[in-house]
Amino acid sequence: MKMILLGAPGAGKGTQAERLCKVLNIPTISTGNILRAAVKNGTPTGKQAEAYMKAGKLVPDEVIIGVISERLAEADCQKGFILDGVPRTIPQAEALDKMVKIDKVIDLEVSDEAIIARMSGRRVCEKCGSSYHLLYKKPAVEGVCTNCGGTLVQRKDDHPDTVKDRLRVYHEQTEPLKEYYEKQGKL
Ligand code: ADP
Ligand code: ZN
Repeated sequence: MKMILLGAPGAGKGTQAERLCKVLNIPTISTGNILRAAVKNGTPTGKQAEAYMKAGKLVPDEVIIGVISERLAEADCQKGFILDGVPRTIPQAEALDKMVKIDKVIDLEVSDEAIIARMSGRRVCEKCGSSYHLLYKKPAVEGVCTNCGGTLVQRKDDHPDTVKDRLRVYHEQTEPLKEYYEKQGKL
């Protein structure tokens, strides 16, 4: 199964992907996690992406297409994968269609108000990227990742003003993908 999770930032793509990949026994590929690791490690990709990410803007398509084509070429992706947070633009979707045949696309629909409320409580593990919520998905021990013991932090791009910017970008650039995949009969 080669599938894509669509939805606004904070819609719950990461949470659903974590559940689905266990059931389906295929990897989740999150460009957000790959890019955050690249920034942390100071790789060339990380240096290209950092300023865009801090501002809540989309990283340029060429950078994303490079990241994703490299990742999909790895052995663990050959029988299937779940894409979380990619594609985010029509050019990314077109490039992806040239790399692999996508089977299904799931769109998670959540209102902007609910997203803004959710994001303020979101915390992520510094070390492994697992996500938690102060109200809805508490870790076993406050401030500590249940998965790996890492420290839980609030991402800079989860602050309310940045969230509003990211929602605007989502409506302008990513929402058109629903129609793109609906036309292919995959939504
Ligand atoms: P969320 O899970 O909250 O939707 P992500 O973790 O997927 O956010 O992404 C964090 C940031 O990384 C984005 O705000 C953007 O700057 C960058 N990013 C991740 N994936 C993409 C993509 N497919 N295209 C462009 N930018 C991306
Ligand atoms: Zn962790």
